[in-house]
Amino acid sequence: MSTSAQPSAETDSPSSPATRSEGTVTDRLVELNARYAEAFTDPGMDARPVLHVAVVACMDARLDLHAALGLELGDCHTIRNAGGVVTDDVIRSLTISQRALGTRSIVLIHHTNCGLESLTEDFRQELEREVGQRPVWSVEAYTDADQDVRQSMQRVRTSPFLLHTDDIRGFVFDVTTGSLREILPAS
Ligand SMILES: [Zn+2]
Repeated sequence: MSTSAQPSAETDSPSSPATRSEGTVTDRLVELNARYAEAFTDPGMDARPVLHVAVVACMDARLDLHAALGLELGDCHTIRNAGGVVTDDVIRSLTISQRALGTRSIVLIHHTNCGLESLTEDFRQELEREVGQRPVWSVEAYTDADQDVRQSMQRVRTSPFLLHTDDIRGFVFDVTTGSLREILPAS
């Protein structure tokens, strides 16, 4: 997917993480964490998000939620999966977020050019043929991001487990412009 300009690899700053080649990617992450921890100071926060908001979004690597929404450490819960789909497990997290950790607002974010758009439920059949077992989960593939956001909003709104369903908003993030486009609920 990476088609953008390549920085001149290898030659520039040896400290740049993108140019390091020894070890596995996880080794690199662990090394960078050591630097992060050196500069880290305890923010003294508890687990309750400062902005009382939970954001459900696709796991897509092009969506930097904190940067895109101007969020700071401690501001929000971020719940991510393939597609930003509201599954039972997302409802589990939202329920804990609201009932145990005080969030009241929910933001749902899908995005353009999602990997799920190239899949269908055939993916499950293919898996079953390959491994001899059908997964219990749905692929939740979709072709219309707007419609899928509406469906996600509806799933959250109708959940019996949530305390607060009056501030639920849904968006599609454009991976080429960085902009959010709001999707209005179905009814
Ligand atoms: Zn996606």
